[in-house]
Amino acid sequence: MGTNPVNPRTKVSLVFDDGFTQSCLKVADCFEKRGLSATFAVLVEHKTFMPAFHKGEFSLWNTLQARGHIIHPHGFDHTDLTSIPHEHAVSRIDACLEYFSKHLDYFEPASTIYHATYNRTTPELNAYLLTKVRAVRSTGLLGTIGNGMNHDAELERRVLSCAWHGPDHCDEHLLASLVEAERVQPRLFLYMLHGLDEEGWGPIRSQALERALDFIEASPMLEYWNLSSGESIGSD
Ligand SMILES: [Zn+2]
Repeated sequence: MGTNPVNPRTKVSLVFDDGFTQSCLKVADCFEKRGLSATFAVLVEHKTFMPAFHKGEFSLWNTLQARGHIIHPHGFDHTDLTSIPHEHAVSRIDACLEYFSKHLDYFEPASTIYHATYNRTTPELNAYLLTKVRAVRSTGLLGTIGNGMNHDAELERRVLSCAWHGPDHCDEHLLASLVEAERVQPRLFLYMLHGLDEEGWGPIRSQALERALDFIEASPMLEYWNLSSGESIGSD
């Protein structure tokens, strides 16, 4: 009581980006069957981004949120914020958070995580974002693929690394990454996903997602966490 466990489990979070409608619905069902809630990072304006795939609107995000799932911002649109002048990037961040505040029930910027498009941000954008949001998901200026291992330093800095694989299916890469997370035991292992089966970039097959969740649930080292605001990221 009142003391930290000697070996707290590594929290594992999977984030589904871009808001592909069919995938989000299937992912939500899959997580609900296990008593878990899924985390989705979605755009405000998505029409010009991967137009071949249907994406959800805020009515769907409110419905999924009411079912217990977590909805986080992925950007106003899918622009790479490092490719435009800083002031323009700041305007898009502001427009994104403002839209979320107006259209997503109970949304509070200070409780959310901003999942940067292409995982790319400048140090200046991180500094700006961290005055608004709880944490930023970014692997830096180039958005180089991260290892997703977030130790005390990353959590205190509130800039989170994540791992991913694409453009082909990420099934095997996710499973191998979970094995690695079990070995390394960071405080938080974060992995970015997109759509299910054939939807979006670097999709995961439904069966592989089930297998990954089975692996996490069976592991004595890992536990699933939906990135909800109840638990702290930061110095406290
Ligand atoms: Zn995206």
